[in-house]
Amino acid sequence: MTPLPRFYNTLTRQVEPFEPMDGRTVRMYTCGPTVHDYAHIGNFRAYVFEDLLRRFLKFHGWGVIQVMNLTDVDDKTIRKSRAAGMSLKEYTQRYTQAFFEDLDQLRIERAEHYPAATEHIPDMIRLIERLIEKGYAYQSPDGSVYFSIARFPTYGRLARLDPASLRPGARVSQDEYEKDNVADFALWKAWDEADGDVAWDSPWGRGRPGWHIECSAMSMKYLGETFDIHTGGQDNIFPHHEDEIAQSEAATGHPFVRFWLHCAHLIVDGRKMSKSLGNFYTLRDLLQRGWTGREVRYVLLTTHYRQHLNFTFDSLDAARAALARLDDFRARLDGVAGTVPPASLPVWAADADGAFHEALADDLNISAAMAALFDVVHEGHRAMDTRSLPAAEAAAVRAMLQNWDRVLGILRPDETEPSPDVVELVRRREEMRAARQWAEADRLRAEILARGWTVQDTPQGPRLRRR
Ligand code: AMP
Ligand code: ZN
Repeated sequence: MTPLPRFYNTLTRQVEPFEPMDGRTVRMYTCGPTVHDYAHIGNFRAYVFEDLLRRFLKFHGWGVIQVMNLTDVDDKTIRKSRAAGMSLKEYTQRYTQAFFEDLDQLRIERAEHYPAATEHIPDMIRLIERLIEKGYAYQSPDGSVYFSIARFPTYGRLARLDPASLRPGARVSQDEYEKDNVADFALWKAWDEADGDVAWDSPWGRGRPGWHIECSAMSMKYLGETFDIHTGGQDNIFPHHEDEIAQSEAATGHPFVRFWLHCAHLIVDGRKMSKSLGNFYTLRDLLQRGWTGREVRYVLLTTHYRQHLNFTFDSLDAARAALARLDDFRARLDGVAGTVPPASLPVWAADADGAFHEALADDLNISAAMAALFDVVHEGHRAMDTRSLPAAEAAAVRAMLQNWDRVLGILRPDETEPSPDVVELVRRREEMRAARQWAEADRLRAEILARGWTVQDTPQGPRLRRR
């Protein structure tokens, strides 16, 4: 029996064994992008961490249902679409599409659902109605609806707020606010001029939802009133996640989320990378400078998610070098393994296989997992140097790395086009066949095979197939 994975739960500030509620499928919600601009690599740190978590949960043997929201209405999207002279939808669609393109570049697996806020306004209205009925929310004179934190005694539990800092009855209407300003927060915002034509009808007049209610309504719609994991960056803990808990648990009377996982920030020069500080790079900036999505993924992936990730261009250089080492190793392994079916693993690889899984089960200890990977590279080269890695064992090591890559997503994809040296070998083989030098032609066929391609001789000439 593989032991259960352990994760650090922000709710309890402890590492706890994790298992999905139903024993089979993990239901998880991840706060998604506000589609007002290109996401920066700080945002992608959060999404790559969530991708690692998702892939590991599947690797461990569970199913995953992941929901990621798209915030396509809020203070920023409205302000910027108006400044651009575009409709809110037209404007947010552009950045939603860019977001998915970036996910693909970074090899982030797709979630099962990407609900957009503007398509779930009736769900949010119903949730706010429930909160009013139960006495947790009230309408203010301007027609907005607020959540009353005084009515919810455990408010502040996730963020560990000092009760003395609470100012019940005072109100904040903006989506983001500071810890020294803990007050009743907006569930529904009455229309004002800055909203332009962005408004929906509601029992409280025309207006739009606050940001927090969106995540409560959409997570519970797709995952149920209690679900397994909720993630985000640390900056989401307060007020966003605190407010999500209050709204959801007040409405349902059930615990909202079992495990809260948060990643530490990506920082530059000691400060959080953010749009407002202007100290950010988008993925596109880095691709334009000649880095690949795979290299950026490597940098974002390989620092433990609860440690600050200090972004530098040196770290991209190091990623490039590490990936080249991996690629070289796999090519050499391929040459030794050929088409021989895998046998059992050599002892050093079997040990590494156990260490890899155990490292990730230990609160996603990626450093230990990468150490296991580079141990395999080291031991594998050594065994090949001394010709003590039989083809069938090399094939087994190759299959193990492929399996690990279900979690890491960093190996070079198998080429669909033969490289120039393979093409040259095929040409020489044709020459040998024409000259009826069969032994040499067969030797060349084996060499081509060792590089991962089979040759079929057809009436139209040789045809190459990926092995
Ligand atoms: P936003 O679009 O601002 O709502 O952010 C989307 C996600 O990125 C959230 O989970 C944030 O917590 C996360 N995030 C924002 N900035 C950073 C950063 N510098 N490092 C890590 N995560 C971040
Ligand atoms: Zn959210």
